Amino acid sequence: MKFSVEDLKTGVQSSNKRLIAKAITLIESKKAEHRELAEKLLEEIMPFTGNSIRIGITGVPGAGKSTFIENFGKLAIGKGKKVAVLAIDPSSSLSKGSILGDKTRMEDLAKEENAFIRPSPSSGFLGGVANTTFETMLICEAAGFDYILIETVGVGQSEVLVSDITDVFLFLKITGAGDELQGIKRGIMEMVDLIFINKVEDENLQKAKNTKLELMRALHFLPPKEKDWKVPVLLGSALNNIGLPEVYEKIEEFISLKKATGKFEKTRKIQAEKRFEYWVKELVLQETKARNSTETEYKLHKKKASELKSNPISEAKKFVNRLFP
Ligand code: GDP
Repeated sequence: MKFSVEDLKTGVQSSNKRLIAKAITLIESKKAEHRELAEKLLEEIMPFTGNSIRIGITGVPGAGKSTFIENFGKLAIGKGKKVAVLAIDPSSSLSKGSILGDKTRMEDLAKEENAFIRPSPSSGFLGGVANTTFETMLICEAAGFDYILIETVGVGQSEVLVSDITDVFLFLKITGAGDELQGIKRGIMEMVDLIFINKVEDENLQKAKNTKLELMRALHFLPPKEKDWKVPVLLGSALNNIGLPEVYEKIEEFISLKKATGKFEKTRKIQAEKRFEYWVKELVLQETKARNSTETEYKLHKKKASELKSNPISEAKKFVNRLFP
């Protein structure tokens, strides 16, 4: 490692993008010596974190997330904010592909002095790579970013993960063709704080209004996620910058409400607890795999489970009992 923890800390705090990127690479590294440094760095920067608004954004590929983030990011920068964009990409390491692709699509935003865009890791964490987006977000906060936009695709578990680390969760939807494919998944509807129907133009305005009614009806039957907050369904066009100022205002309104009721702080504490639990599981598994004696046992029980003769929970239990006799 060319840089010391101190170098990285200073670099991050002076918002040096090259060093922010280096710090994130360190956080993402699986090497034991890197992990140790990463932890030190996180400890050092911890007092300077927590001051951003963490925004999760989901929607099927093609819904317009990149376009939205690019223009929304520019809008926030225009208001004097600093914006970081991260991605949680659940693509499996089996397919090697990344659904979100590289984020070169947000070229205009990337050019902004007050923007930082981190492309998604090349292989997804659901394929076995630990998910470090939360820690990456802390680095961005220490670097002074006011808005952290975390993008994900509406597949798998990724929404839960994003919702578990953000303050506000935005669902981007398109109306018209392919709508049924987006399936108004109950899971997503329970997590959202704000819905933006994108690509609304004259010719599909009526259709979009119908979609809005459908969504509102669906929301009506769900228990409210936040007291005193009726999930707004906004219409607009990310490409043409229509409806984005309204999204910005609604987010500010939502955050103010959460802060006033104490929910903001409370949720962040719960999220940190979940994060702790996540790392306990992750580290136990990593330690297991790193020790020769336990790795053999681990593989043995895993193989037994894979033979479909004994059930996975029993094999897991046998293995864990060996770890903690
Ligand atoms: P993502 O896969 O969700 O990130 O979607 P993209 O932002 O890459 O957008 C997919 C396509 O939809 C691109 O060709 C965009 O230019 C287009 N698009 C995005 N927003 C709008 C919009 O408001 N109106 C129209 N007509 N096209 C849009």
